[in-house]
Amino acid sequence: MTKNTGTVLLVEDERQMRRFLRLTLQSEGYAVIEAETAAEGLSQAAMRNPDIILLDLGLPDMDGLEVIAKLREWTSLPVIVISARDQEGDKIKALDNGADDYLTKPFGAGELLARIRVALRHGALKSTEPGEAIFTVEDLKIDFLKRKVYRSGGEIHLTPIEHRLLTVLVENAGRVMTHRQLLKEVWGPPYIEQTHYLRVFMNQLRKKIEADSTRPRFLLNEPGIGYRFKTDFD
Ligand code: CA
Repeated sequence: MTKNTGTVLLVEDERQMRRFLRLTLQSEGYAVIEAETAAEGLSQAAMRNPDIILLDLGLPDMDGLEVIAKLREWTSLPVIVISARDQEGDKIKALDNGADDYLTKPFGAGELLARIRVALRHGALKSTEPGEAIFTVEDLKIDFLKRKVYRSGGEIHLTPIEHRLLTVLVENAGRVMTHRQLLKEVWGPPYIEQTHYLRVFMNQLRKKIEADSTRPRFLLNEPGIGYRFKTDFD
């Protein structure tokens, strides 16, 4: 089994949760830095240069949303938010504020590790440029330069909006994108409340790129939050 490398900064005030996370991460080869408060987390983030931050939203000294905003003033380091069930609304705000992903307690070790791998990979992609000209997953192929999309070798014709929507999702593959983020990226800031646009175009896009649009494999719905382009098929 291949071991992971990288340092995870864990900002979490609950002892039991911290212990579970630390043991899970260490068993997979990650180094772990722990912080119990937002203030400690922010200073560790600046001093210790971690590769990724796991951030609990409910911290004793500061709202996790505020922590994300402060981090985003100076770093694009991947941030995965850990939230409790009663913080559904905050989850969307966290993503809109610049968090990369979220996990809702309780979650399993496998899910946590998969999300970390995606966030780290995405962080690495952001720092390489120019982007790949050709993207392939399973039977789907996208040629960004020629603006062409193929499924099982055959070309699929997308409208400009559908193409833009697919491109934004693929650029953020593996991560959840909120409705607002997608509307802003594809249609522009005045349209961030027009969730129905997204629903209509997502349906069209699914019909074109999914083998069965009622059981999408790539374009996954995150209920009440947004959409995620899935790329991990084990
Ligand atoms: Ca907490």
